[in-house]
Amino acid sequence: MPSPTAARSASKAPRTRQRGRVKGGAAGPPIRSARGAPPVRTCVGCRERAAKSSLLRLVAAGDLLVPDPGARLPGRGAYLHRSKGCLELAQRRKAFVRALRTPGPLGATTVSEYLGGQPARPARALAPENPRDR
Ligand SMILES: [Zn+2]
Repeated sequence: MPSPTAARSASKAPRTRQRGRVKGGAAGPPIRSARGAPPVRTCVGCRERAAKSSLLRLVAAGDLLVPDPGARLPGRGAYLHRSKGCLELAQRRKAFVRALRTPGPLGATTVSEYLGGQPARPARALAPENPRDR
């Protein structure tokens, strides 16, 4: 009769590795905007905050939404990431109407083209085909 004293694994690996505790944790105060920090705006699409300079300003011109990259146009402005995804998000939740306080929906074709960068047909008629120099 074999004795059931199976040798328990004698090798006890020391698992208690003590790392120094992370100091501070998450209890710190919110980051204060330091003096001279870039202004921050909220993207009306994804609602994330970003530096104003990285967002595109949009204003309402009549019932059309127009990009205002130079921030020169008067009136209310809405800020949006330069991404079509954010534009679609903002349109879906009617964020422009709310942000710009317009009575009706805004056409965003101009902005869409601005963000898309590439128009439907490439302007290729610029290069002269055969400059007859000689
Ligand atoms: Zn966004």
